[in-house]
Amino acid sequence: MPKTFFIRTYGCQMNVADSNRILQSLLHAGCIPCDTPSAADIIIINTCTVRQHAEDRAFSFAGGLKNLKKKNKNLKIYLVGCAVSVRGELIKKRFPFIDYIIPAYEVEKFAGSLAENNRQTNKKFFDEFVTISRGCSNYCSYCIVPYARGEEVCRKYADIQREIKQRAAAGNSKITFLGQNVNSYKAPDCKADFADILNETAGLKDIEKVSFLTSHPKDLSDKIISVIAKNKKISREIHLAMQSGSDRILGLMNRQYTASYYLELVGKMRREIKGLTITTDIIVGFPSETEEDFRQTLDLVKKARFRSAFTFKYSPREGTASFLLKDDIPVDVKKERLSRLNTLLEMH
Ligand code: SF4
Repeated sequence: MPKTFFIRTYGCQMNVADSNRILQSLLHAGCIPCDTPSAADIIIINTCTVRQHAEDRAFSFAGGLKNLKKKNKNLKIYLVGCAVSVRGELIKKRFPFIDYIIPAYEVEKFAGSLAENNRQTNKKFFDEFVTISRGCSNYCSYCIVPYARGEEVCRKYADIQREIKQRAAAGNSKITFLGQNVNSYKAPDCKADFADILNETAGLKDIEKVSFLTSHPKDLSDKIISVIAKNKKISREIHLAMQSGSDRILGLMNRQYTASYYLELVGKMRREIKGLTITTDIIVGFPSETEEDFRQTLDLVKKARFRSAFTFKYSPREGTASFLLKDDIPVDVKKERLSRLNTLLEMH
């Protein structure tokens, strides 16, 4: 009987991609996905620690598996991802019945060895996601990613090119490049950058669509804009996190750009890339955010004309730089600002 597996994913697109990588590896090895944890031989929980709520949900799900493990001694449970990277010791104490804990920066290696250890047959490998870098060195003051996933490490250009060609030959006509900050990609083995990756991939005859996630405004270069503008195969939907419209708050967030830089960048992209739509992330209620700071965020939202946005109330995460700042905006003020922001976004 082929082994069955169940994957539960919390958090961002990188986690979704990591889970997809694990899924593809297990499918490739001949294992079969199932709909419920009770039907599985292997359970993988991919955790997120960006917000307390996501961490709590993952841990509560993990806690609920204790009885399954008691009933089925052959069941293997893996807890992987960002919460493991920063809360490893706590997890070992709290969930002694979990078989393996794997930090986010080892997920790629883990996917390969998991498939190897559970190999049943060889199947065709279909996956549109190509991870070009892992981790992040930007240290935005509110973000746990550089601690959970480590500093940015870029894959070799030659390896990425080989993988894309293999995917295309296997029948994938769509490629999505992934990295915490794809546009800061610099090849460790040659002079290539992210624009070169996009250009070369869009030039392959078997590839019909090229997308990428996610972009930091400070690294979205003129070269990248011009490559996208020239290649119709490259997606016109770009996610560009804005976070705040106040220069003072952007400085406290360590975002490394100003509101006017962001607006100029959006304007340049709209002029050059026909049919462009932009989505964004915005945080309200960052420590010390005044009504005037928030008003500047609303102002930038009006000018930037986003198609949609992920909006969040600031929540402090232990281990980040902003955790040391006083979380001094009352919850009802955060809620009220979030509601005004969402109303404005719906109108534009
Ligand atoms: S760019 Fe900033 S928000 Fe994005 S992953 Fe890196 S540190 Fe976190």
